[in-house]
Amino acid sequence: MITWDTHLHTEFSGDSTARVNDMINAGRSKGLKGMVFTDHLDWNYPNEPGLFDLDFYSYLDAMNLAMTQNPDIEIRKGIEIGLQPHLAERHREFLNKVTFDFVIGSIHVVDKRDPYYPEFFKDRSADEAYGEYLECMKENLLTFTDFDALGHLDYVVRYGIRHLGQSLGSMSFYKHRPIIEEILQFLIKNEKALEINTGSFRNNMTEPNPSYEIIKLYYDMGGRLITIGSDAHKPENVADGFDGVALRLKEIGFTSQAVYISRIIHEMPL
Ligand SMILES: [Zn+2]
Ligand SMILES: [Zn+2]
Repeated sequence: MITWDTHLHTEFSGDSTARVNDMINAGRSKGLKGMVFTDHLDWNYPNEPGLFDLDFYSYLDAMNLAMTQNPDIEIRKGIEIGLQPHLAERHREFLNKVTFDFVIGSIHVVDKRDPYYPEFFKDRSADEAYGEYLECMKENLLTFTDFDALGHLDYVVRYGIRHLGQSLGSMSFYKHRPIIEEILQFLIKNEKALEINTGSFRNNMTEPNPSYEIIKLYYDMGGRLITIGSDAHKPENVADGFDGVALRLKEIGFTSQAVYISRIIHEMPL
């Protein structure tokens, strides 16, 4: 059973209006033991500049208040940082200055474009777009390692399917397998977690991000460190799809989910 949701957004994210306490009430009613909030920080976000410039001091104040108001459930302070190679040094300085329990590194922007918008897929095949996304992910990993988990590895497929449809938008795993293996190898070698993100289910997908093929590959390569999050931006999506995902992860061989507290790994049984 998945007892912690470690990827959650609130109104401190530019794309959410959810109140912290409404999210916590949802987590409580779904039987969670712990919730890690990971509001967005995406500096230099090209499509809507400033939208994801997290007001982190207000955010941390709100989290501290939520922790004292909700002693029956564990609340932790995380952040989802949108990586871009030119921001690596700025992110390092930021994380030296401001303390979080958990840091997700995610790639939302590739060469000044977010695959969330259809322009990313214009005039090319889905596989070309996916190849560019994965190359960009690798480039980011080579410049920045100060995160705990790599967010939604195949995030780009969510939007490929949305913009191109199920058949044109599906990812050819074998075509991209070499670079996916490089990324997974990097995570294993550097003791970074692979995030299993169930936000995909709200985007017409039947598997989490990344897909079970990628999760199984990670396991077969020796990867055991996974974090699990719903990426909920609304209370009703907290812990989305967790029961089915827990079963599949156990079938693959995983026995625990990682939860980071003060950036230290705690393994919670599945
Ligand atoms: Zn994200
Ligand atoms: Zn997110």
